[in-house]
Amino acid sequence: MTTMQRVYKFGGGVASPDVTEGDASMNYILGGKGANLAEMCRIGLPVPPGFTITCQTCVEYDEAGNSWPDGALDEIEAATCDLEARMGKRLGDAEDPLLVSVRSGAPFSMPGMMDTVLNLGLNDESVMGLIAQTDNPHFAWDSYRRFIQMFSNVVLGIDADLFENAIAQRRLIAGVRTDAELSDEDLRDLVDEFKAIFAREVDASAYPELVVDGTVTFPADPRLQLRLAIQAVFGSWMNERACIYRQRNRIPDDLGTAVNVQVMVFGNKGETSATGVAFTRDPACGARGTYGDFLVNAQGEDVVAGIRNTEPISDLANVPGLEEAAAELDRVFGILEGHYRDMCDIEFTIEQGKLWMLQTRAGKRTAAAALRIAIDMVEEGLISRDEALMRIDPSQLDQLLHPQFDTSAAVDVLARGLNASPGAAVGEIVFSSDDAVAVHEAGRPAILVRWETNPDDLKGMVAAEGILTSHGGKTSHAAVIARGMGTPCVCGVESFRIDAVAKEVHVLGTDIVLHEGDVISIDGGQGIVVAGAVPLVKPELTGDLDTVLGWADEVRLDESAGRGYHVRVNADNPEDAELALEFGAEAIGLCRTEHMFLGDRKQIIQSFILSDDADVRAKALEDLLAVQTEDFVAMLRTMTGRAMVIRLIDPPLHEFLDDPRELAGEIARKEALGQDVSDARERLRLIDGMMESNPMLGLRGVRLSIVYADLPLMQVRAVASAAARLKLEGFDPRPEIMIPLVSITEEHVQTRAVAERVIAEVEAEYGVKLDIPIGTMIELPRACLVADEIAAHADFFCFGTNDLTQTTFGFSRDDAEAKFLPAYLHEKVLAANPFETVDPAVLQLVKMAVDKGRAVTSEMHFGVCGEHGGDPTSIVDFFNTAGVDYVSCSPYRVPLARLAAARAKLISER
Ligand code: PEP
Ligand code: MG
Repeated sequence: MTTMQRVYKFGGGVASPDVTEGDASMNYILGGKGANLAEMCRIGLPVPPGFTITCQTCVEYDEAGNSWPDGALDEIEAATCDLEARMGKRLGDAEDPLLVSVRSGAPFSMPGMMDTVLNLGLNDESVMGLIAQTDNPHFAWDSYRRFIQMFSNVVLGIDADLFENAIAQRRLIAGVRTDAELSDEDLRDLVDEFKAIFAREVDASAYPELVVDGTVTFPADPRLQLRLAIQAVFGSWMNERACIYRQRNRIPDDLGTAVNVQVMVFGNKGETSATGVAFTRDPACGARGTYGDFLVNAQGEDVVAGIRNTEPISDLANVPGLEEAAAELDRVFGILEGHYRDMCDIEFTIEQGKLWMLQTRAGKRTAAAALRIAIDMVEEGLISRDEALMRIDPSQLDQLLHPQFDTSAAVDVLARGLNASPGAAVGEIVFSSDDAVAVHEAGRPAILVRWETNPDDLKGMVAAEGILTSHGGKTSHAAVIARGMGTPCVCGVESFRIDAVAKEVHVLGTDIVLHEGDVISIDGGQGIVVAGAVPLVKPELTGDLDTVLGWADEVRLDESAGRGYHVRVNADNPEDAELALEFGAEAIGLCRTEHMFLGDRKQIIQSFILSDDADVRAKALEDLLAVQTEDFVAMLRTMTGRAMVIRLIDPPLHEFLDDPRELAGEIARKEALGQDVSDARERLRLIDGMMESNPMLGLRGVRLSIVYADLPLMQVRAVASAAARLKLEGFDPRPEIMIPLVSITEEHVQTRAVAERVIAEVEAEYGVKLDIPIGTMIELPRACLVADEIAAHADFFCFGTNDLTQTTFGFSRDDAEAKFLPAYLHEKVLAANPFETVDPAVLQLVKMAVDKGRAVTSEMHFGVCGEHGGDPTSIVDFFNTAGVDYVSCSPYRVPLARLAAARAKLISER
């Protein structure tokens, strides 16, 4: 039996050639970080040596209830000994100790979600070795206290504030302002104090291995430190914030994280040392040229934590002693882009003038940047157009359709910061994540205002409309997370003095004080903050989006190797239809005609439903015919030359009636005032008579056409007359009539016969020939089962996957998402919300109906017009698994659907 390799080495060492075993393709084994560390070693970049423990080891460890798989610890021990041999140093050595970092690294990037321990290997002896080697006691003691602090918090979960308070106290006693000003003795005393906190806070019964002579003791043994740190990183895969992040980003829970154990390099060894994060292109707008932040004399976490304000990477070459490293870094940027053929995000450290690469990965970017970078890279010959399309995440395009400040509004800028994540937001100020959640749940928009954010803030960041921080750069936690979520964010608003305890902000240079609940507006594309609510407008499509969607259209509409992948829109008014045409919709896939009965027209349909008087009903129908005809004329004119699928009235009729509870309340009020309520009572009686126990399964869809035969007569007449009139005016109207909620073939047959009769009458009346296809909306499982029977009478099928999902699961589409789906998702009963992403069983029903229909006649066409038609994952499934010809979605999702359809086509051609 071959055993699975659990540990992979990378890099060389002072006493060893390069021994790298992994490469970039081993993402699922080594995690993104481990795979790319190995790849950077392979292409000769300077990477501190180390080894990676596989994701599978983490999975097995978790599955076994935090217990090590057989042989894993032996393999880690062997790799540790090998690393010591490669470096010619030992962990814990009193003269020249080896120190390592222990970092997480999952197959998909989850920035800041899991744990890291730095400076591992320090103890009372090895700190002396570090002093001897560096001749820098301040650095050595500072590293040691950082290690105890980080280890205690990350590995044992001890409250970080206990350590921060101790440092603050020490600063006070020493009479200094910054940590850097603390003396060597202060730092040494802090080490003792930290160990005492550790001994006090750790539960001896949970960690027997930490008990020495009856008391809990900070572990001096580097091997024990290492094992506990690796266990903590494994454990962090399942911490709350990591789980939330995975759920939001649809990352499976069963991948596990790898652990990278790597020789420490120090960016905090003085003024010729530095640490930073950078992108090979601007992640906000995609412009060419490197981009990022660094800090001199600091450790990596200081940059991303936003604790100190960083310097722009363009200034690195101006720091005395760092010029050579800056030039080397520039060279590395070029090598990485050329090698990965993508915009890379890197972490680096310069230790006494020598550059070290700590990480690289494909950089997260805004939608605007994704488009710009893809276009530039195609022009630079780095990637093909098809690759460019596969690089852009369709859901991200939503960001480009984010609201912006209305430029015609007078905007008085209160403060400026960094334009960290695009889009504008208006909301009330909240100072904590919990308050952001509370305000959001109360149905009000919130702007989360923080000194900085940290991973524990994720819930609040998700709930907030916008994020503002007074510290940190564009690579700070707040900026990275906000961009990923598409939430507007302004970072580093230095003029904001935030007092989160008093819940107020003092705006420097003014006497303005903002309080919790005050409304502000932020624009994350411009980096500005405005007091009060600025009106927002929806943006226009940019030139870059047009270019990329043009490429997408070429791919998806190319029929040379089979069928095209078409995108239609769900629209029921001329404005939406026009917008959708601008967004690139080819046709209308669903016009919900009942939406045309709202507003002042509600009165007309109400008198049709509630009256027994034939004349009143006839008059109502006549009025409806007049207004519907004008509606169809307007829309068919807008859509001339393009198909427009018009669905006959669908929802339960009581949706058009007054709410009986409100009406009863009104009656009670009137009675109390002694007013006449007899009419209202009669009305209430009639409305009550229309109520059904399960309206979603009741008198709706085609059933209305059977019960109230006048309704389809009127609607088809309106469609046909509108088309006839437009034809006579020289337009090219292409209406298609769709019959909703069919489950029995005869429902379709009878309604179709009525429609054909009316169309023939209108043709005779206007003296024009109309060609109006009549199709079925398939949204019930029975219809899928008898689809071949129905197909014999239908020109097309369009799948209403909202109702099909509802009826396949027996989940109420109105209630499930509020009542029990969150629990189903949380408990992993379901992997995804089936009303968002098409469920595999529903997809099978769609496929079955398509196959049955096609078998009857190759003339039929097939579409999807449920909400899933605008979901990128479902779009791929509909085209490639079910074999539909088009998807139809709301206007703002059309750009996304065009890109998703092109990607589906490329996937199918692979
Ligand atoms: C559907 O059921 O998927 C559909 C598009 O129709 P409606 O949402 O109007 O019921
Ligand atoms: Mg429906």
